[in-house]
Amino acid sequence: MIQPRRIYLLDTKKLGPETIAVAFAKTSRSPKSFDEIAAELSDERSADFHEKWVVGYGHSSVAEHAVLHIAVENISRLAVECLESNRLASYTEKSSRYQVWDENNFFIPEEIQGSIVENKYSETCKLLFKEYQTAFGKVKKYLSEIKHRQKNESERAYTIRIRTCSADVCRYYLPTSSLANVGVSINARALEHTLRKMLSHPLSEIRKIGKEIRTVSLKKIPTLVKYADSNDYLIQIEGEITNRSSKVISRVNSDDGWCECADYDEDGEFQILAALFYRFSNLSFKEAYEHISQLPQQKLESITESLLGKLGKHDIPVREMEYAQISFDLIVDQGAYFELKRHRMMAQTAKPFSPQLGYATPKTMSEAGLLDNFITAMEKARETFYAIHEIHPHAAAYILPNAYNRRVFLKMNLRTALHLIKLRSAPNAHFAIRRAAQRVAEEIRSKYPLFAPYFKIDTDETWRGLENDFFLIIS
Ligand SMILES: Cc1cc2nc3c(=O)[nH]c(=O)nc-3n(C[C@H](O)[C@H](O)[C@H](O)COP(=O)(O)OP(=O)(O)OC[C@H]3O[C@@H](n4cnc5c(N)ncnc54)[C@H](O)[C@@H]3O)c2cc1C
Repeated sequence: MIQPRRIYLLDTKKLGPETIAVAFAKTSRSPKSFDEIAAELSDERSADFHEKWVVGYGHSSVAEHAVLHIAVENISRLAVECLESNRLASYTEKSSRYQVWDENNFFIPEEIQGSIVENKYSETCKLLFKEYQTAFGKVKKYLSEIKHRQKNESERAYTIRIRTCSADVCRYYLPTSSLANVGVSINARALEHTLRKMLSHPLSEIRKIGKEIRTVSLKKIPTLVKYADSNDYLIQIEGEITNRSSKVISRVNSDDGWCECADYDEDGEFQILAALFYRFSNLSFKEAYEHISQLPQQKLESITESLLGKLGKHDIPVREMEYAQISFDLIVDQGAYFELKRHRMMAQTAKPFSPQLGYATPKTMSEAGLLDNFITAMEKARETFYAIHEIHPHAAAYILPNAYNRRVFLKMNLRTALHLIKLRSAPNAHFAIRRAAQRVAEEIRSKYPLFAPYFKIDTDETWRGLENDFFLIIS
């Protein structure tokens, strides 16, 4: 007899995450329905199953069906970076654009507690937060004098706009020690990897958060993260590679620019169009590529129009856009980096946060009469960084504000590049990430002329215009 189609949700109120994972896993060998399988399970039987299959035989994908929602509160933004460096999970964090930090909202790292730099560290944090709050009032006043309520803009919308614009400027003061809340939805397999990274981290705050996350997770998934521990490979790699790489002399100088396209697939457009033909024909990939590479420009433009010209506002281009890769060596302020790191569908390698690359100064800071205070605070942060660095190099980054620049290497495909550019060049995005998105778009347009019209941005802005309008100094 043909079985009727059934589609239903497993009840997370009745079944724990580990039991759900087993109910799904067992469909591989059992002809029974999912609810029948689930009815035969208990917590103990599920734990035994995971011990045997996931832990014992390494059938780890089963653990992906056990999902947790973890509330993480009052951790430093430096710890947030490590937590969110795992791409196979979902995060929402406290925004530096829509919330204001109060003056005691900072973390004091254990590495410097009781040391000769602890006072200096706390004083610098207090100074940064005091200046942040003073600036908030002054910038808001200044902006409400020069930005007027627009036609059809309600009083409330205008107030929110001024507040957000002020936060966008004042956030440059916020150090990475600022405390934040993050909501994390993650499956047990990704969580195990996260915990391994956190438990192997050189900073004690991050190791402790890792332990606490493991403790609360064990209440719901007693087997799947039971063995998550620090990892020698992750601990040793930094020392081993630093030892070798520090012998190579860098010839970088400050005129080299802030956005370098390090590498790209020169025939990326052909790869993508060939993959598109491959999908919708009986051609082999080689045949499709040969055909595409011999087409006249007009035909190529017409196929590209079918690929990219008909996308609606919320449409995602087809996966074939992933067959071209481009990489960038980018310098952006830490605030912009904090947003950039949220783009999970690309490879990112950020250098450790240090004051070596200088800091960005928003123009409004100067126009609101706050330039001297800003420079003093940034210099104090730099001095404190080097004082802490003597004691613990990793802990020194806690003191650096969002204004300081960060260097990050990104490798992305054109599908994710289009998404990044669309999202981060929108008028409601912060001006620092708009500048980066505009520059990345410009580079892509120059490397991929056929696709260039679809990497154009709907606004009149350019990255140079953004630099002129929003920054006094960038580094
Ligand atoms: C206006 C605005 C305000 C924001 N405010 C906040 C804020 O207050 N707090 C905050 O934490 N973040 C905020 N963000 C960041 C935002 O939540 C995203 O993390 C960030 O924009 C990266 O976008 P993404 O997830 O689409 O990109 P990527 O991670 O690069 O993902 C690319 C695409 O892959 C798909 N994808 C990736 N992962 C998944 C998944 N797990 N499930 C389903 N689909 C997936 C989606 O289609 C996604 O668009 C804001 C962003 C914008 C634009």
